[in-house]
Amino acid sequence: DPVPERRPVRRLDDATVASVAAGEVITRPADVVVELIENALDAGATRVDVAVAGDGTDRIRVSDDGRGMSRRDAELAVERHTTSKLAPGESVSAAETLGFRGEALASVATVARLELRTNDGGPQGTRVVAEYGPGAARTEPVGRGRGTTVTVRDLFAETPARRESLGTSRTEFARVSDAVSRYALVRPDVALSLTHDGSEVFATPGTGGYDDALLGVYDREIAGRAVEFDSVQGVDSGGGDAELALSGAVVQPSITRARRDHSYVAVDGRPVDNERLGRAVVEGYGDLLPDDRAPIAVVSVSTPDSWVDHNVHPRKRDVRLRAPDDVERAVESAVSDALSTADRRGADDLSM
Ligand code: ADP
Ligand code: MG
Repeated sequence: DPVPERRPVRRLDDATVASVAAGEVITRPADVVVELIENALDAGATRVDVAVAGDGTDRIRVSDDGRGMSRRDAELAVERHTTSKLAPGESVSAAETLGFRGEALASVATVARLELRTNDGGPQGTRVVAEYGPGAARTEPVGRGRGTTVTVRDLFAETPARRESLGTSRTEFARVSDAVSRYALVRPDVALSLTHDGSEVFATPGTGGYDDALLGVYDREIAGRAVEFDSVQGVDSGGGDAELALSGAVVQPSITRARRDHSYVAVDGRPVDNERLGRAVVEGYGDLLPDDRAPIAVVSVSTPDSWVDHNVHPRKRDVRLRAPDDVERAVESAVSDALSTADRRGADDLSM
């Protein structure tokens, strides 16, 4: 989808704030990474680089080549309930952007030291620092090309209870890596990279190909077994005809995983943890999948306007679908069609 024009950052009115589902609570490094990636994608970035030190509490840095912010917007952005993503009167549920609550940067700044370096294409960039509280503590000009770099340091250093509830460094980094993979796979049009303690963990090229994204995140063997698909399915929901667009890639079931978390499902560009859609992917594999094994697959569903309420999950990790059965069926058949196409192709190859 084309990214909407850049709008100024403004403060949400009280009614809108009240309608926002839950305060955005940052409980672990991966939550920070997700919010910063979403902001970069909402800014129309074609490149997003994520660099993490240790378990992420030391330092997380996310750089993008998106639209950037003016000085005024950058200062406002670290305050509570400020956003450029909802026009006055616009409903939170209808937001087409990944963010809409205007809380993430302020929430992160409350539990860490946050620095923004940003430039919206003007002659000079802006550096804004907020430390252990929302609102800019310092603003100054800085040299930077168009785009934004957000650095978060010393996460939870002043909230020891949060810090103590974290898992091991390994667990927390695994969560970060999983989060970055989700966006890398469902947005193959964006070049996403993850670096850990200075070494690159993975990088995708941003070609738009799901196979290229799988190659970046996984390996050649898995990418080589990926079957891409792109389909439009008409659904008849509540009397009105509508179309669902599905794209993605399924990895042929000669390679499987023990756990479900290698099925990536996105609804309107948002990776979701949706039990029913996850199951629909598995159903699409049918008998091809060995017992107790889970597939590697990426399924991205685009729905008609107002089919999805994004404002239901406190951390926006799931959505409410207007016609979940239709979406489930569409996912299942997109997956099974892709696999049977691959099967036919395989049979043709053998007969040659
Ligand atoms: P939300 O994403 O819900 O609007 P955030 O607190 O995450 O709230 O961000 C506040 C605002 O800061 C955004 O609406 C956007 O205008 C601006 N912003 C944040 N990150 C970026 C970025 N990487 N590039 C451009 N603008 C950004
Ligand atoms: Mg945001």
